[in-house]
Amino acid sequence: MATIQWFPGHMAKAIRQLEENLHVVDIVFELVDARIPQSSRNPEIERLIKDKPHLVIMTKSDLADPDQTANWIKQFKAQGVPAIAVDSKANITTKTVTRIAQSILADKLNNEQQKGLKERPIRAITVGIPNVGKSTLLNRLVSKRAAQVGDRPGVTKGQQWLRSSSKLQLLDTPGILWPKFDDEETGQALALTGAIKDQRFASDDVALYALKFFRQYYPKALQERYKLTEDDFDLSDVDLLLKLTKQFGMKDDYERASDRLILDIRKSKLGRYTLNRTDGEVDA
Ligand code: GDP
Repeated sequence: MATIQWFPGHMAKAIRQLEENLHVVDIVFELVDARIPQSSRNPEIERLIKDKPHLVIMTKSDLADPDQTANWIKQFKAQGVPAIAVDSKANITTKTVTRIAQSILADKLNNEQQKGLKERPIRAITVGIPNVGKSTLLNRLVSKRAAQVGDRPGVTKGQQWLRSSSKLQLLDTPGILWPKFDDEETGQALALTGAIKDQRFASDDVALYALKFFRQYYPKALQERYKLTEDDFDLSDVDLLLKLTKQFGMKDDYERASDRLILDIRKSKLGRYTLNRTDGEVDA
């Protein structure tokens, strides 16, 4: 079973930085990939951020299955974590994120004002695994640099607040979490979406996982993209991969064919999909 190259030293440093930064923020924006809302989460997040207010932002929702995204939002909410789905490239995202952060922190901000404190922007940090879309979301949200925060005790030197609007400021250094996968399927889901580029995930294994998955959940997309017949659906996953290999004109080079299939899926050539499935019900 493959694991990602996260050395204990890196993890310890990432955790220390995140814990330090938590002192200066009001809320944590935890980014997860809407196609793999579970596999792209680090299960330690809850322990790390303790009782700090927390919003799950499902990025890349333009690539995910909308029904599944709606189910996931329900599921997160049922677990007591507010969640929204965004396309970080869309203009509306700034407004959506700001509004929900304001509503989560409404009581705290009202209390401050009742005590006579001045109205102030909400301060947030984005956290998430590599490639989940932290920089893209930051770039979308931010209009200009605000004050330097690095001279405050306990805060990593040289950090800055980035100003999103008068209502929201973000720490310029996202918190980096590592993906955690104890089971093969999580690793394959991460590999298929391009969240990890670990050489130890053989592309034919990932392609076979993909074929099995698309046959079960999105057979029409698979059939249309590769002009499959009904008989093709009777083939085993391995035989179907061999058939596609020939169809791609790659003779018996099924590894190259696997790469091509994976790339097609990553580029949404088979349409929108969500690999981690939920019906929105909470786990008992
Ligand atoms: P980071 O490592 O977490 O900072 O991730 P990046 O911001 O570099 O994003 C990784 C890749 O995902 C880039 O190719 C982005 O263009 C892409 N990406 C990020 N957010 C979105 C999104 O909401 N929709 C789509 N379609 N692509 C996104």
